[in-house]
Amino acid sequence: MIIVLRPDATGRQIKHIEEKIKKMGLKPWTSKGEERTIIGVIGEEDALRLAPLEVFPGVERVMPILKPYKLVSRDFKKEGSVIDLGGGVEIGGNQIVIMAGPCSVEEEGRLLDIAQKVKSSGAKVLRGGAFKPRTSPYSFQGLGIEGLKFLNNTKKATGLLVVTELMDAKYLKYVEKYADIIQIGARNMQNFELLKEVGRSKKPILLKRGMSNTIKEFLMSAEYILSEGNFNVILCERGIRTFEDAMRFTLDINTVPVIKNLSHLPCIVDPSHASGHWALVRPCSRAAVAAGADGLIVEVHSNPEEALSDGVQSLYPEKFDEMMQDIRKIAEAIGRTV
Ligand code: PEP
Ligand code: MN
Repeated sequence: MIIVLRPDATGRQIKHIEEKIKKMGLKPWTSKGEERTIIGVIGEEDALRLAPLEVFPGVERVMPILKPYKLVSRDFKKEGSVIDLGGGVEIGGNQIVIMAGPCSVEEEGRLLDIAQKVKSSGAKVLRGGAFKPRTSPYSFQGLGIEGLKFLNNTKKATGLLVVTELMDAKYLKYVEKYADIIQIGARNMQNFELLKEVGRSKKPILLKRGMSNTIKEFLMSAEYILSEGNFNVILCERGIRTFEDAMRFTLDINTVPVIKNLSHLPCIVDPSHASGHWALVRPCSRAAVAAGADGLIVEVHSNPEEALSDGVQSLYPEKFDEMMQDIRKIAEAIGRTV
C-alpha cells in the first residue's frame, strides 16, 4: 500500500500517520520526493483495509501496490535513486560509474598495478574477489581476509573505491571494514538470510542477478535488502542461462530498460561474466551504456594467461583503455558522462 501525501502535508501530520501504521503492526517507509512525500506500508496489509487512512489530514490518496515488490518499485519512488558510494562518487545520476579489476585478488603487487592502470583509464571503483564462488571445490577459492587487506591497501594507494563479494555473513564485519560496496554474487541472489544481513548494513550493496532468475525474482531479492532498511542497492545484470551455448551466458540487455522502468534503483552491467570472452566485452559494454546502464563492472588483468580465475574473459589494461574511449563517446551521445 502506498499513501500519497498532499504537497502541503506537514511534518506533524506525517508523523501521526506513521504512528498509526506502526500501531497496526505494520512498517511505514517514508520517501520524500521532489514534489511529494509518499509513505509505503509494509506488512500484512489486511489490517489496513479497515482503516480509513484517506480521512487523515495530509493524505491525498491511498493506493494498493499490485506488484509483489514495493520499496524497490518506481510506484514507491518516482525519481531514480542516486547512491553515494563515498569519495565523491555517486551512482544512479548522470555519471556512468566504471568498476574494474581482476576477477580474484591475487598477489598484492599485481593488484596495485592493475588498479593504477584502470584508474588512469577512468575507473572509479576497483573490483576484486577475496571470497570466490567457484564451481569446483578444487579451484582457487580466494585469499579471504588477506585479500580484503590487499584491496584496502590498494584503495589507500590509489584512491579507488573497492567492491568485493561477500559469500557468508560470518565475514560481513571484515568486508564492511575493508570495502566500500558489498557484492552479493549471482549464486547468492536468493540466499535470503544473507540478503537480510546485508539489509542491516550501512554499506551500498551490489546485487547481481542470478543466472536463472527472472527480473521479478531479482527485484524481490532487492526488496529483501530494502525491507531491512538498506536502500543503497545497485542491481547488476551479469548474463543469464539460455539455450545458447556460443557464449558463457547470454547478456540480457533488456534488463536495463526494464529495470529502469520498474524500479528507482541504479542498474549496471557486467559484460565480462555475461559474455565469458574478452573479445565480447567491448561490444557488450557499448551496448550496455547505450541501453542506459548506470555503470559497468569489468574484469581486467595485467596477465590474463596467469589469472587464477576468469582469465579468458579478462581484458588487458590496454584493451580496457580502448573500451573506455568508446564508452565516453557513447555516454556523450546520450547526454551522460563517465
Ligand atoms: C564475479 O564477479 O567474479 C562473480 C563471481 O560474478 P557472478 O556472481 O556474477 O558470477
Ligand atoms: Mn569472475
